[in-house]
Amino acid sequence: MTDRTGLPPSSAPPDGFRPGADRSRPPAPGDLALPVTGAKLLTAADGRPLRVVDLPADTDWVPLGTLDGTPAWATDVPSADDLPGRARGWASLAAEVPEPHASLAGRALAVVTWRRTHRWCGACRAELTDLPGETARRCPACGLYVPMQLSAAVLVAITRPGPAGRADELLLVRHATGPTGLWALVAGFVEAGETLEAAVHREVGEEVRLPVDRLAYFGSQPWAISGPGVLLAGFTARAADPHAEPVVDGRELTEARWFGLDALPAELPPAYSISRWLIDATVTARRR
Ligand SMILES: [Zn+2]
Repeated sequence: MTDRTGLPPSSAPPDGFRPGADRSRPPAPGDLALPVTGAKLLTAADGRPLRVVDLPADTDWVPLGTLDGTPAWATDVPSADDLPGRARGWASLAAEVPEPHASLAGRALAVVTWRRTHRWCGACRAELTDLPGETARRCPACGLYVPMQLSAAVLVAITRPGPAGRADELLLVRHATGPTGLWALVAGFVEAGETLEAAVHREVGEEVRLPVDRLAYFGSQPWAISGPGVLLAGFTARAADPHAEPVVDGRELTEARWFGLDALPAELPPAYSISRWLIDATVTARRR
């Protein structure tokens, strides 16, 4: 849930990025500013956030939370022509800036995109109003509560024993859309009514037709590329049948292949992605 007070009770300034929706004080000139134009962010040349003072005084700001204790604000700008900074997509930013900055940038994109697409009540068509202290809106006519929602997606690093005397193998796949040259992990969105674990088993079954076991949670990452408000949950698993080969449908995936952990391809997911963290952790764990 969002942080209603904006700051934790401790006296020390909080480290890193903390999401929030505090409007109890107006933006100060030195606060962080994250203008969003289309699907891009305006940042300083080094990818760090601009300051509120850099933008026109009549800018309409939306609270995002704090970065190392400094409040951060987003705004939706139709055109970046007369504004300072450089327009960047989230992927190029995340590749360059420290993780808390990437998380803040991702939240700015998610919040602004959500506000664009949640202006009217879906039940009675009245215009929604902002709820103080929350990233949520309410319908003044019928009372409908409209919080910003997250989509959950899972991804899984599946391994199996290698040939006798050789390293374990990792299953990597190539997608039909997006960065098609990349060797990635099996991944997919969680359906309503489904657990994360069940989603892993279903996606692996659908995408490569393999049964897996020894499913273990690895970690999570907010993701700002594949739409607003996506949370990726990473898992590791073992192939239930070490001799089974993957079968792809040719539509979502074009290829799936076992790679020795000592002979992974060079075209792996970027260093800022949980896909890569999972792959690297799998390689490290098998070396021990
Ligand atoms: Zn309504």
